[in-house]
Amino acid sequence: MLMDRHGRTVSYLRLSVTDRCNLRCLYCRPAEAISFIPHERVLSYEEMIEIVAAAQELGVHKVRLTGGEPFARKDFVPFVARLHARFPKLDLRITTNATMLAGRMPELRDAGVRTVNISLDTLSPHTFAQITGVDAHRVVLAAIEEALASGIRVKINAVALRGINDTELPAFVDFARTYGVDVRFIEFMPIGYQCRWTEENFWPAEEIVAAFHAMEILRPETNTEPHSGPARMYRIIGSQGRLGVISAVSHHFCASCNRLRVTCEGRLRTCLFSDEEYDVAGVLRRPDYQRTQLLELFQRANAAKPLGYELLAARKRTNVCQRVMTTIGG
Ligand code: SAM
Repeated sequence: MLMDRHGRTVSYLRLSVTDRCNLRCLYCRPAEAISFIPHERVLSYEEMIEIVAAAQELGVHKVRLTGGEPFARKDFVPFVARLHARFPKLDLRITTNATMLAGRMPELRDAGVRTVNISLDTLSPHTFAQITGVDAHRVVLAAIEEALASGIRVKINAVALRGINDTELPAFVDFARTYGVDVRFIEFMPIGYQCRWTEENFWPAEEIVAAFHAMEILRPETNTEPHSGPARMYRIIGSQGRLGVISAVSHHFCASCNRLRVTCEGRLRTCLFSDEEYDVAGVLRRPDYQRTQLLELFQRANAAKPLGYELLAARKRTNVCQRVMTTIGG
């Protein structure tokens, strides 16, 4: 079991399979062009399977595949199928922008995927292009409909951006009601060098919750799902749909943090807000590699896992860490 000095245990691993992405979301990466990690430094699928095996030995039972855009990596779906075949009990999830999802549903279902988290920050095609730099709103909506029609559950993640999508709550209520899905607004986090976070574009969860209450059609709901994470959810009365908030900045949930992250170049991060990284790839590529070496690295890293809110509080009007989200994976 992985327990840290604050008594927290780890059961959830976020594994980034690539830093490449076909969108350029303004909250996710700096304005300037970024260079991608060279292919030879990116973990192979075999190395990722070994990481999952080690993590599972240490008590991880939920793995989220993320990126970059995971579907942008060659042979991603066969990789998911391999993971599912090798670890059938693992709760395997994917976070995607859904631009490359069309036509993949049967394969995904066969690969054991029951739920996908889709990033969709706006219901306006124009604002979508403004946020992502790409005109793909229609493609994403079509993929959502296709996933739902094939019986794959969809959860929508929207980064809350004041001045950009803060007028869209009623539209998202209609959307969640129509499709019977969860929409979670994630507070914009000041992550990555040249991050565009400002006091002005930060739309705090409490304001969103106040707007939920004002709409009078949302009822707070206790999260009953196992490992449901830090979202606070509100049911749309008379509907399957729910809206929620993830207050990653204003109301931290460090005390219940159960996760670790591994970047696509094999760096273990124990806290989203900390640039302290541990060289998993270096261990895996040792000529005398044995799994115990990886288990020891995980143990040592996790023992020193910090409290992210302390790092956030110590930052001075700037980003809390240097790594950009496209390489961390959210
Ligand atoms: N390409 C995939 C996608 O779009 O979902 C996976 C990678 S993306 C980095 C994972 C998640 O991180 C998305 O839900 C995205 O909205 C979120 N994210 C990225 N930067 C963020 C930031 N600065 N604050 C809050 N959430 C962020």
